[in-house]
Amino acid sequence: MGVLDSAASQQHESVHFGIDKGSGLRAIVAIHSTVLGPSLGGTRFYPYATEDEALTDVLRLSKSMTYKAACAGLDQGGGKAVIIGHPETLGSPALFRAYGDFIDGLAGRYITAEDVGTTVDNMEAVATRTSYVSGLSTALGGSGDPSPATARGVLASQRAVAALLWGSSDLAGRRIAIKGVGKVGLALAGLLFDVGAELIVADVNDNATDQAATRYGAKVVPVDEIHQTHCDIFAPCALGGDLNETTIPELRCTAIAGSANNQLATEGDGDRLRNVGILYAPDFVVNAGGIINIAAEQGGYSQEKANVMIDGIFDNLTDILTTADRIGIGTHTAAERVADERIATARQGETA
Ligand code: NAD
Repeated sequence: MGVLDSAASQQHESVHFGIDKGSGLRAIVAIHSTVLGPSLGGTRFYPYATEDEALTDVLRLSKSMTYKAACAGLDQGGGKAVIIGHPETLGSPALFRAYGDFIDGLAGRYITAEDVGTTVDNMEAVATRTSYVSGLSTALGGSGDPSPATARGVLASQRAVAALLWGSSDLAGRRIAIKGVGKVGLALAGLLFDVGAELIVADVNDNATDQAATRYGAKVVPVDEIHQTHCDIFAPCALGGDLNETTIPELRCTAIAGSANNQLATEGDGDRLRNVGILYAPDFVVNAGGIINIAAEQGGYSQEKANVMIDGIFDNLTDILTTADRIGIGTHTAAERVADERIATARQGETA
């Protein structure tokens, strides 16, 4: 399928390509929806093997940003950007300035922030060329790296799951397996350690697992075994697609609640999880803490205000999980319905 057909099939509004020969920038921005407000979503800097792979990723990620913002009750649309290449070798200040010019050209229909492979420092370089960037440092009036906020939202989600499954939101003594202990996963490990959970972790980066083991007493297991760990909650916090037809039959958890975007490899994997009796907390509801934190920059950022909004994920997720159970549908589908209804109502308001 070509670019336009791929985008049209998922109801995207537009796709934009940014190239700067001097710095090596090759970027794609996908704007999925601006019905609820300007599209907001991070920039992923990743060495995609092909342009098709990058396009597929940015289309899927931007769509889930629409659902994430809508489910979280934010007046924001969904967009996402990818930069193709190795952030360590290609990520120069010149590249991020050129990227800032590219974002500025979109005239506010897309607002960017950090994601996998990009940092607060990178966004500050982007901010020298455009105001359509968020997640800047607190010194510059921003809310800083959204990852701790995302981790806080994952913790709230895991408490909601525990309350539904075991009658108490207390995670003390619960066995929690985290795949990917990067910015979010490591922060989550810290929060779970503080509440007395037992931790098992895996990461392709030994330095990351060393930190989780040293700081939080986490047991380290190989990357290809973490999903098979006997545990109460499995938390995918690396990249997407971890829940698929191969891994789902091998899972030994009772529930799943993690930060990774697009955890289900296909729509059908939500039903597959339901069929094997695993409670799946939809990723775009669980990982909304970061975007909620960024949205809290509007009208002046306060961490207290943001934390109250992030902790609201507990009730939000509880409603979605109980609705899914009551009407007998997958949790992912139930969450999508909440978002679809909100967007449809806003659209009606636009055309009325
Ligand atoms: P990160 O790059 O800091 O961390 C990802 C970690 O996963 C790294 O330590 C990396 O080594 C590890 N990893 C990569 N591939 C792996 C594999 N195959 N097996 C095991 N580990 C692997 O990224 P992050 O910001 O912590 O984000 C983690 C996930 O959460 C991503 O999917 C991201 O899109 C999503 N997310 C992040 C935020 C945020 O605020 N940072 C918000 C919403 C969603």
